[in-house]
Amino acid sequence: MKYDKISKKVYLTDPEAQCNYYKLEQQAINYAAKFFQDICSCQCGTVNDRVLPITFYCEQEEIISAMDRNEDYFITGGHVIANKKQSYIRIGLSSEYDVLLDDTERIIRHEIIHYYLWLCDLPHADDSLEFWCMCYAYDADAYKKLNEQDKKKFNAFKRQCNKYKPDTPYNVWHIVLGAIVSEIHEIEAPDVKVKFKEYMNNVKKVFIRD
Ligand SMILES: [Zn+2]
Repeated sequence: MKYDKISKKVYLTDPEAQCNYYKLEQQAINYAAKFFQDICSCQCGTVNDRVLPITFYCEQEEIISAMDRNEDYFITGGHVIANKKQSYIRIGLSSEYDVLLDDTERIIRHEIIHYYLWLCDLPHADDSLEFWCMCYAYDADAYKKLNEQDKKKFNAFKRQCNKYKPDTPYNVWHIVLGAIVSEIHEIEAPDVKVKFKEYMNNVKKVFIRD
């Protein structure tokens, strides 16, 4: 590790760690870009699927920098900054490995889902129903508790997701998922099933022809 007085940052100097980080960052950039294109197929809003403000940083550098400043906290994992006109995603990578771990992929999906919902003007907080639904559909770990009413809707969503997702063609599934998530706030829990069925039938008619 090397401390740079001007930028007040610590940099990796070990060639192996540098090399690991470089390889890992390339994989993370590709993975994030592909996942963002994937989630944009849900069409919850008008979004350019090539514009993704995401940066990565080395967790080891972050930890050592914090220690150096005598700060007792440092950031690992990922987070999204979503202000009125500025937003970006920042995700930590560990230079211990040179392959993207499942956990890191899950963090990337989790943060991109926050960002995507925010772009589409939909609720995007950790405890929002829309966020929970997207995280379930994309295996991205929502953890902050839902209120009782939203929990009922989420359970109804989960059942329909399990029912339709495995056998539905990619484009049909994404559009149905996007439509449901965009509207789930107005749908009562018992009607989630009905809405799913209705959208499945309508979207299939457009995309699947005999
Ligand atoms: Zn989150």
